[in-house]
Amino acid sequence: MITAEVIAVGDELTSGERLDTNSQWISQRLAELGVRTLFHTTVGDELEATVRVFRAAGERADVIVVTGGLGPTADDLTREALAAAFDRPLVRDEAALSHIRSLFNRRGREMPERNVVQAMFPRGSRIIPNAHGTAPGIDLEIVRAVRSPARYFCLPGVPAEMKEMWRETVAPAILDALPGPARVIRHYCLRCFGAGESHIEQMLPDLIRRGRQPSVGITAHQATITLRVTAEGESEEACRRLMQPTLETIRRSLGDLVYGEQDEELQHVVARGLSRAGKTLAVAEWGTGGLVTHWLSDACGDHSFLGGTVIRNRNALCETLQVSRELLESRSEYSCEVAAAMAERCREQFGADLALAVGPFPPPAASAETPSETHFALATADAVFPETSPFTFHPDILQARTAKQALNALRLYLATRTPMDSLTA
Ligand code: AMP
Ligand code: MG
Repeated sequence: MITAEVIAVGDELTSGERLDTNSQWISQRLAELGVRTLFHTTVGDELEATVRVFRAAGERADVIVVTGGLGPTADDLTREALAAAFDRPLVRDEAALSHIRSLFNRRGREMPERNVVQAMFPRGSRIIPNAHGTAPGIDLEIVRAVRSPARYFCLPGVPAEMKEMWRETVAPAILDALPGPARVIRHYCLRCFGAGESHIEQMLPDLIRRGRQPSVGITAHQATITLRVTAEGESEEACRRLMQPTLETIRRSLGDLVYGEQDEELQHVVARGLSRAGKTLAVAEWGTGGLVTHWLSDACGDHSFLGGTVIRNRNALCETLQVSRELLESRSEYSCEVAAAMAERCREQFGADLALAVGPFPPPAASAETPSETHFALATADAVFPETSPFTFHPDILQARTAKQALNALRLYLATRTPMDSLTA
């Protein structure tokens, strides 16, 4: 199988000033062509280092896609580094030069002398046209002692130009060069919430095995677990057929831990559930500070999501949400009774069918034996369903995680309408 390396060139990338999004995009496109990317390399604007990176890539990959460093300024060294790496002198291409000159003329400007360098190409290379920018790309084949030649495609860093040149020239060239019938790689994601990564892995013991076809990868992001099924085949249809039994096995094994597909978030599933049930929803939040409201505002239509109230202290709890002061005398605000009262008052105030409430985040636990908890509740016309969850996760993801737990409880309610234990009948 043909393998690829993507090389991103630029000090703005290695310094951390800018995120290298081109490599991500290029790797996704390579995968669609059936080419596996084995290496991502990022190198600063330095000639010697870039030369070394280019040589190393030719020893470990068949297709090398370079992005960046094709500009006219002194720090743009891709052209020079490629010439130096493989001992190919730079020669001027008159057609490319007149294209660059005409771009300047069209903008009513004289071409600066520095831009001549953009019409220089390592001997033996082909030009990758750049219709809208002054930096043409370079397509260079390097003969190797043992294997078939390595092919370098150098593209500008400007994402719009890079993408256009990829579509117009590079992708067709790679497809042409691939041996045998075209292969495609396709992914399908199932999204889970409600159990940890290792727990989910245990429930799917034989699927997450190296070398399995289709392969199953598992990643976690803010408590959402994504299972990514990857198949390789002759066509999109073949990949789909190959993936189907694996997707079914996952769904069967994980049951309602699987909430959605591809890039769906819990709020999208909740939005669907609400409109299917013809129910309206309102939200009252303390600890999550409006995150649930924000997510639902994005995902729901105006008919189903009526709004949210964010409070941040006891006074607002009583004044704004109208939770009774008597309740606060007998119960702490860190209790499921208060979360339940928040949900009930919110439901009344908005005149909603359902209300979801998230209580305050507890202060840091006094000791390891008294783990702190967070409470949330769902109020319906007939009952209030409180839930408690341990508050033991990394501070960076606490808000997102708690917001997701609340949405997940609502999702399960909308899916089954038979939540576990209600507080009041
Ligand atoms: P260059 O072709 O190196 O002159 O890059 C031109 C501009 O494109 C840079 O200033 C960045 O803003 C952007 N750019 C370069 N490389 C990347 C990359 N790998 N990912 C995203 N943007 C990039
Ligand atoms: Mg640059």
